[in-house]
Amino acid sequence: MGISIAIFNQKGGVGKTTTNVNLSAALASKGKKICVVDIDPQGNSTSGFGVDKKSLEYTVYDVLINEMDIREVIIPTEYENLDLLPSSTQLAGAEVELTGMKRREVVLRNALQIIRDDYDYIFVDCPPSLGLLTINSLAAVDRILIPIQCEYYALEGVSQLMNTYQMVKKNLNPNLSIQGVVLMMFDGRTNLSIQVVEEVKKVFRGKVYVTMIPRNIRLAEAPSHGQPVIYYDPRSRGTEAFMELAEEFIDLEEGEW
Ligand code: ADP
Ligand code: MG
Repeated sequence: MGISIAIFNQKGGVGKTTTNVNLSAALASKGKKICVVDIDPQGNSTSGFGVDKKSLEYTVYDVLINEMDIREVIIPTEYENLDLLPSSTQLAGAEVELTGMKRREVVLRNALQIIRDDYDYIFVDCPPSLGLLTINSLAAVDRILIPIQCEYYALEGVSQLMNTYQMVKKNLNPNLSIQGVVLMMFDGRTNLSIQVVEEVKKVFRGKVYVTMIPRNIRLAEAPSHGQPVIYYDPRSRGTEAFMELAEEFIDLEEGEW
């Protein structure tokens, strides 16, 4: 049975989409069957895989609001082992439309149940908010993966993030757990990065991945070419970091503890 993981941090610009696109692609290149669910109205994961948002007939909006069968909306990407439930800007209205619906917090969960045996991992790229789309994501998945940026205000918002996690766990999804924390934009030459790593390790004991993602220009460029970094520049530090993260991820899943 597949495992579903939401990439969650209500702060914008911390690297959720970068982690989602590149970790998914790295795992898929290692033979894992992956479905990416893009539930952010900005649709950056959708375009990050080279999918033209304007060309889409159906999107996750149709699954959430129009009760369309999720299997009819998922599309293959250009990359082997990698499917996508694409987003659209329509999704911005879904927050409001969901409000009037019965069992509005578990619409995505019901849809993901249908496909969970088709994949090894389902990754959900959350929007930068704590609205109903994020709540639906947290209610739908087995685990959360939290990217944290190595910057001055890194831990700001973490207590709010944990409150939301606890609230969903208590009321909607008792089996929800923390998969891990990925440190983004790490720069080992600065004291600030080193301090942030120490702080984050204190808060999330034993949950922080050893692999940290450095600031790398190729990671920032790749989305505008519609490619995960491992295809955009296979020799970049970004590629190296995400392939390492994928290995660590698999080792923790499948290795001896
Ligand atoms: P979020 O999805 O949390 O809003 P993104 O993944 O979109 O964050 O990242 C925000 C911006 O920072 C994007 O322009 C992205 O390309 C860039 N970025 C993210 N991680 C890195 C990195 N490790 N090195 C360089 N640029 C990065
Ligand atoms: Mg994003």
